[in-house]
Amino acid sequence: MPVYMDHAATTALSEKALEAMLPFFREEYGNPSAVYDLGQTAKNAMEKCRARMAACLGALPTEIFFTSGGTESDNWVLRGVCRAKRQKGRHVITTAFEHNAVLRTLEQMEQDGLEVTRLEPDRQGRITALQLEEAIRPDTVLISVMLANNVVGTVLDVPALARVARSRRVPFHTDAVQAVGHIPVDVRKLGVDFLSLSAHKFNGPKGVGAVYCRLPNRLPPLLTGGGQEKELRSGTENVPGIAGMTAALEEALAEMDGRTARLRRLQERMISGVLALPGIHLTGDPENRLPGFCSFIVEGIFHSVYLVNEMNERGFCVSSGSACSAASRASSHVLLALGYDKALAGAGLRITLGAENTERDVDRALTALREALEKVRKEKPPGAFLP
Ligand code: PLP
Repeated sequence: MPVYMDHAATTALSEKALEAMLPFFREEYGNPSAVYDLGQTAKNAMEKCRARMAACLGALPTEIFFTSGGTESDNWVLRGVCRAKRQKGRHVITTAFEHNAVLRTLEQMEQDGLEVTRLEPDRQGRITALQLEEAIRPDTVLISVMLANNVVGTVLDVPALARVARSRRVPFHTDAVQAVGHIPVDVRKLGVDFLSLSAHKFNGPKGVGAVYCRLPNRLPPLLTGGGQEKELRSGTENVPGIAGMTAALEEALAEMDGRTARLRRLQERMISGVLALPGIHLTGDPENRLPGFCSFIVEGIFHSVYLVNEMNERGFCVSSGSACSAASRASSHVLLALGYDKALAGAGLRITLGAENTERDVDRALTALREALEKVRKEKPPGAFLP
């Protein structure tokens, strides 16, 4: 088995989550919309999960809607709010380093006449309240700023940004996919109107997530059909997924303090070990970053996908942090947004540690990285010809 160090990409399903799911694959397989007992059992279980998810997030059960994951949640909020508000205006503010679930969606909406302002983060991935304040226009209908970045792990000051939005009466959405289950997330303390989350980032199953929505009657549906989720999100609910997601989030919160302390120690060990290698720099905010999240720029290589492959050969799963296609020498839009040049923005390295990683894993990964780096720098230096 490889040593898995790519927890920002996805995580293994926890035993508790699996156990919570199994009954709904086996005996309790009813459709929650069905009126007979088998259906109502599933429905009751699902509503209990809604209340438990709400409690985990400081929300009300009526504010939680189940979706198929982070991408759908982001699409729903962006498209829904803009449609609901089109009489007021057609201007949205986001940042230049959101996940593509936000950026590509807004790009598509621009083709239909939406105007988008993309706030530029500073080198560490921070956006200031003043930047946001200055970008708001009378026709701004939505602000969408992520809670934690998925390439460099910076945790943004969403409470400060949401305060600005509220004072200007503009709805505020946060993509909290990387944050939920890893740092405390309370929707009231954040002061947001909408929040997206995804179960597979916190040891829940893939293909299930949720939207927190403070004012559900202001959010028209993305998916229409059978009228599930109070007519706001049609489609038979993923009951096993919802059960697994709920169990995983409760487990993550119950263990958060201990896990965070451990992950911070491992993170420090990894970061100081990697930075001891020549020509490597930390990316993102050195202070306000997700626990276990280690991200770097590597000088002297053609593209970090070669480094990722060499690490794979040595039994470690790490990431380049960009949609990596060495053939196109793709740069990460996130690293570009942070101000790195095109070559360096293709040389990101992301190592995201999780609960099962040990000090020994970290030390072995550092040895493997030293070897991999030497090889890639020799064989694939910057400007190397493609094979
Ligand atoms: N938003 C962020 C910040 C993410 O990191 C991801 C997944 O990598 C998504 C959205 C998409 O979530 P999902 O994989 O559940 O569609």
